[in-house]
Amino acid sequence: MEEILNTKLSIESWLQIGIAILIMYGIIELVYLYFFKKYVGMKDYKQTTINFGFVILMNMLIGSIIGTLSTGVFVIWGYQSTFFTTDLVWYWWIYGLLVYELFYWIQHWLAHKVRLLWCLHSPHHAPESMNMFVGFNHHFLEVMFYMPFFLGFLPALLGVHPVIVLSISLVDVIWGNLLHINDSVMSKKYGFLEKILQTPSYHRVHHAQNIRYMDTNYTSITLFWDWVLGTLQPIDDSEKVVYGITREVESSSFWDVQFGEIMLLVKDIWNAPTLKARFLYMVKPPGWSPTGEHKTASALKKLATRG
Ligand SMILES: [Zn+2]
Ligand SMILES: [Zn+2]
Repeated sequence: MEEILNTKLSIESWLQIGIAILIMYGIIELVYLYFFKKYVGMKDYKQTTINFGFVILMNMLIGSIIGTLSTGVFVIWGYQSTFFTTDLVWYWWIYGLLVYELFYWIQHWLAHKVRLLWCLHSPHHAPESMNMFVGFNHHFLEVMFYMPFFLGFLPALLGVHPVIVLSISLVDVIWGNLLHINDSVMSKKYGFLEKILQTPSYHRVHHAQNIRYMDTNYTSITLFWDWVLGTLQPIDDSEKVVYGITREVESSSFWDVQFGEIMLLVKDIWNAPTLKARFLYMVKPPGWSPTGEHKTASALKKLATRG
């Protein structure tokens, strides 16, 4: 166990170095976009910067009350509760990657399909542009509890060795953030890699509000589970990506981006005709309505294909 704790510390310091480099790159990207490009998404930076500070503050606050929380801590909890454990032989790395990515797909699919969870995930989708700080733009509850539970606790509970879980999550954080590289900095595709890995082109599709692009490309490292589960959608160069979410949102406002969806859900629950409708509003996909006039992604897709 002591060895695992030491490895956890060293992976976590690599993670901090990785995040510091990504932030430095994000600042260079911002300067480039501001001075050399007529960049439409400049107002998104206000909200993402405030939220970045807010998440750090909440981390310190919650940490000071219940102790330090990180994916590493969730991994150790999972590892201690598991009935069987794997070791560091090569095939357990493959098992670990498959399990980690399956949980990534499941948590991300749920975040898009269950409205209560969409309230926590929609801030990541609210920006109307793509830049490195969008990668860091998450609701504080999503980064502190939701993702560490699915991507730390559950893989470890399924016996994946903590060193494997933490190493994959290190790759996930670095690569997952790089997927948000701005289109005018890097618009090219990545050749053969586009056949096996999530690349910025796939993730741009994921952030799009174009109807055919909605609710696709859920994973962050390989394309495997999106391919198996039917949610893989390559970019179509003839269709321009429109970033953002379908409701009217003030993407420079911290309150609207981070808490606007929660307020709308509370309003819908308050006005719901029955107790059942109140419950269904929380668990059905965003856009569900008790009247049957749904505006969910699948309803919109059906409508679009009909003509
Ligand atoms: Zn998403
Ligand atoms: Zn993203």
